[in-house]
Amino acid sequence: MSNRMPVIFTGHGSPMNAIGDNRARSGWQEMGKKLGKPEVIIAVSAHWATKGRFVRTAADNPQINDMYGFPKELYRVHYEPAGAPGFARRVLALSGGIAQEKNDWGIDHGLWSVLSNMYPEADVPVVCVSTDTAADAKAQYEFGQLLRPLREEGAMILASGNVVHHLGLVNWRMDNGYPWADAFDEAIKEAIVSGNAAVPVEYEKLPEHQQAIPTVEHYYPLLTALGAADAEDSAIVWNEYRELGSMSMTSYTFTR
Ligand code: ZN
Repeated sequence: MSNRMPVIFTGHGSPMNAIGDNRARSGWQEMGKKLGKPEVIIAVSAHWATKGRFVRTAADNPQINDMYGFPKELYRVHYEPAGAPGFARRVLALSGGIAQEKNDWGIDHGLWSVLSNMYPEADVPVVCVSTDTAADAKAQYEFGQLLRPLREEGAMILASGNVVHHLGLVNWRMDNGYPWADAFDEAIKEAIVSGNAAVPVEYEKLPEHQQAIPTVEHYYPLLTALGAADAEDSAIVWNEYRELGSMSMTSYTFTR
């Protein structure tokens, strides 16, 4: 057994996946049990979308309910794991000046919907990291590469977004994907399982990319996860499905 911690990219999709009976949730619960608890989670969220890269260094993580118009049960979820200032400083140092300290956000639904199911006791500290939507795709991958040493230091890297995420085309009656969503998700998966990160980084070469990725904030966390993985990891594919027409939930764990 390697003591190198895994890297995860997970689709989060609708905030309602956090509660009740659904495929995403059971996948998160199983993955949390399978991997066990790391010392800390370095968590990149699609919903902390910023110009520039930011890291929360505070000792706490206030819960941000950044979703509107959902049933009141969803707002009853309480999830506020501690921060990890020492690890946050380590992320800043490894970034070589690319990332800056910022404490005006907290743990948003892109993270708490996932982590409240993977680690329901909220006993694993979390360092929140933003998604730099002003940087290009390659920079997302390269930032992930800078995080690799943390995996030897007890830190799980977890990035939360969606490979396909087009809210304007969501159809709440569909429990599968449009053909273009399936095709894009499949092309990305085939590249990832064969260790070819160039295809996801150069996603604009894929014919479906404009439908799949109208905005980059949900896709970019995947590239950071890919950068934090390396050639010795193998990719486990899980929660592999599309729903609502234009949403992919396909998730990856990279581990030895
Ligand atoms: Zn989202």
